[in-house]
Amino acid sequence: MNTACRSGANTRAGWIPRVFAMASLAVLMSCAHGAGPGFYADKDLEQRGKTTGARITERYRSFCKSGAFDDCLATARRIEICFPIRSEVEGYLAFYSRPAEETISIPMESLQFLDDLLVAYVWLQHQGFAIDPVFSYLAMLKYQRSVYGKPQSIGPPLAALSVPVEVLSDPAIDAAVDKLFGSAICWILFHETGHIVLKHGPQSNDENLLSQVQELAADCFANEKMLKIGAVPSGMIPFFSFQLVIDDNRFDFPDAESWERHVLTGRTHPLSGERLRNIAAYVMANAAGFVREEREFKPGQIVLMGLQIERLGLLVDDSMVHQTLHLMGQVGTAADLRPGNISEFWRRIAAAAK
Ligand SMILES: [Zn+2]
Repeated sequence: MNTACRSGANTRAGWIPRVFAMASLAVLMSCAHGAGPGFYADKDLEQRGKTTGARITERYRSFCKSGAFDDCLATARRIEICFPIRSEVEGYLAFYSRPAEETISIPMESLQFLDDLLVAYVWLQHQGFAIDPVFSYLAMLKYQRSVYGKPQSIGPPLAALSVPVEVLSDPAIDAAVDKLFGSAICWILFHETGHIVLKHGPQSNDENLLSQVQELAADCFANEKMLKIGAVPSGMIPFFSFQLVIDDNRFDFPDAESWERHVLTGRTHPLSGERLRNIAAYVMANAAGFVREEREFKPGQIVLMGLQIERLGLLVDDSMVHQTLHLMGQVGTAADLRPGNISEFWRRIAAAAK
């Protein structure tokens, strides 16, 4: 079995050369890229794309050699992983495939954004702070720019969440982020490979049911491959949590009927409670298999990860959660994102909910 999805313990250059990339990051607050967060300069993303892209491609090729794709090796070998600077589709975390062309697209902007969010997520936990500000940040990013058209009031994740620059050169944080990042990227690559191997096609809006069935099938494919290479699903928890905040929200719609209609006919890549519960059930049922080579984890910890994914499935379907996220995005200010500063924010959200 290969160890492709684990961070290289003997080197800090795991998935992402974090210090190198961050040192040269320019902030382009005013540029209107539309589809993505628009925080990062093209030249930095391009430079990073060369190193990170090569590493991701190398890991993907190692999956082919390891036997992970034995049931679909010819297709997997043909798949080209592309690293465009920015996504061609809408979304802050936009990773996608084109089954007819057998390509997987990993936009560098989405990748950098995911990495920054994970750095903040890990740093807050290491400091003993609640991780809520990461989700408040995403809600504010979503609502304070796209829905209400306000000028962007919060910056890129690390600055907005007060993450000190020196955190990027902290080996403990780097290793922890790399594990989550590697796990999430593995799952994303496997999920998109699933769409290609299973020859999924684009759906029109009235074929939404088919789209949902295809998502479930690609999830199953990804889960099996994660198990096959023994990659723990740890990174899927933050990845799905981030998506929960930025995904479609019941309160973006004027009433329950129009939301229901949207869920049934309008969503093309939905993160549904059903999807998350299926993933969770698979993780829990195969907990021992996920750790057979990963000495760092015990099966009980994998079951806990499954429970966390199952809980996310409940949150995705909970209208109160949608309302809270919607309010967080509207009433939040930059000051609410400071670590340890959440109780006053929650009081304001509760007041706004009345
Ligand atoms: Zn998909």
